[in-house]
Amino acid sequence: MNIHFRHLCYKQILLALFLCLVPATTLSAQEEMPPSESEPAGAEIQELPVEKLVIVLDPGHGGMNDEGKPEGGVYDGFVEKEMNLIVAEAMKAELEKYEDVTVYLTRTGDQRLSLEERVNFAKSVDADFLFCLHFNLSKDHNTLFGTECWVSAFGRYYSEGYAFADIEMDALEKLGLYSRGIKTRLNDEGADYYGIIRHSVEQDLPCVLIEHCHMDHENDRPFCEGREQWEAFGRLDATSAAKYFHLKSDVLGVDYSDYQTLDVPVPTGVMRPDTTEPDVCMIEVTNQEMETGEITVALSATDYDSGMLYYDYSYDGGETFAPRLAWGDKTQDTIIFTIQVPPHIIPQIVVRGYNGYDLFTESNLVSLPSMDYKTEEEIAAELAEKEQAEAAAKAAKEAEAAEEERKREAAKGHTDTVEVRRTPEAEAKPEPEKEEPSVSYFLTVCLVCALSVIGMTLAMVLLLKSRKRRKRKRRRKRR
Ligand SMILES: [Zn+2]
Repeated sequence: MNIHFRHLCYKQILLALFLCLVPATTLSAQEEMPPSESEPAGAEIQELPVEKLVIVLDPGHGGMNDEGKPEGGVYDGFVEKEMNLIVAEAMKAELEKYEDVTVYLTRTGDQRLSLEERVNFAKSVDADFLFCLHFNLSKDHNTLFGTECWVSAFGRYYSEGYAFADIEMDALEKLGLYSRGIKTRLNDEGADYYGIIRHSVEQDLPCVLIEHCHMDHENDRPFCEGREQWEAFGRLDATSAAKYFHLKSDVLGVDYSDYQTLDVPVPTGVMRPDTTEPDVCMIEVTNQEMETGEITVALSATDYDSGMLYYDYSYDGGETFAPRLAWGDKTQDTIIFTIQVPPHIIPQIVVRGYNGYDLFTESNLVSLPSMDYKTEEEIAAELAEKEQAEAAAKAAKEAEAAEEERKREAAKGHTDTVEVRRTPEAEAKPEPEKEEPSVSYFLTVCLVCALSVIGMTLAMVLLLKSRKRRKRKRRRKRR
């Protein structure tokens, strides 16, 4: 029986008791005084104390472990216990916007609490349901991704847990997370594996453990990177709970009174987890592109117990596998995908198909002919080499041209010297370079020299002539 049915039952029992008692008491009253027509039928019922729903939220972990490390997951600066508390606080605040519900947290600070203490607290406040809030990590990190809910494998704890988890997983999937399903898990004694669920069941308390997503996987990281997203998880959890308990809120303007929850029959036996690998897993290579290395694989796998969840592939015969990928459409037994295989190897294709419990079956191996296409890196390297050679040739050509230009300029500069020196700008600047004497300069110097020689010769002739004249004059005087 679902919790809300239980609540309805309380109300119905009270109503029935009331109706049984009312005729006897009202009969005598009716005799004395006629019923007021304005008074609505069943007005007395509303005066009865309303059975309040009590929900306890358990932010997973808290405090430090025996090794002095934080309890719960820690990865890349993200601390799970802190994230869980923020989710729980947001879930409480949101749930309190609904009517007739009381919400408690098992911890409001960073205390270390045992699982029994958490359940005992929930029982002490007469909880109707316990929600355990967590974030997940995979052992080797960045392997598993997606969201999941764990429920008890027993009786009404299974059916009530499952009915809630069905709403919750639907909402988390709509958010964009990959569903890892609603699951049970047993310990060696055949009891519920998760202590919080086991202790809750022992104390007659339905409990669901929500692993919102994997905080260490690149697929899930965008959903849990900060406070705003953790709070959004809390509000999402609250809405799922409100739907499950058929709550209504005037503040939010929503009424889930008629919300259709999944009818999960109470199992008579234990709802055992899947402990066997997928029943079928085989591959067929449908295409091989020799020019690009692209190989198309058709993978057919089935798990009759928990369905298919992931697959991963290897092209080296199972030595190494690519990261796990989502199966995608879980209603399909066959999926088609392409893989990029490097050249110069003999591809040996193997695929592993994983079921809902992360157990895998390895497929048949398909050997393919080697492909000698050039990889993008090789093409890029070749292109780079070609560009480099071209650039070197261009640079050499330019250097040669520059040298020729320089020579041409030098030759031109030799004849242009006089002209250049005549420009006012050139005159203004002192020319440090020594100019070679030009022809005209040489001729000028020769002319000056010649004129000087002629001048001196004339002067000598005139001097000699005047001396001769004076001698003749003196001779004439003596005579
Ligand atoms: Zn945890």
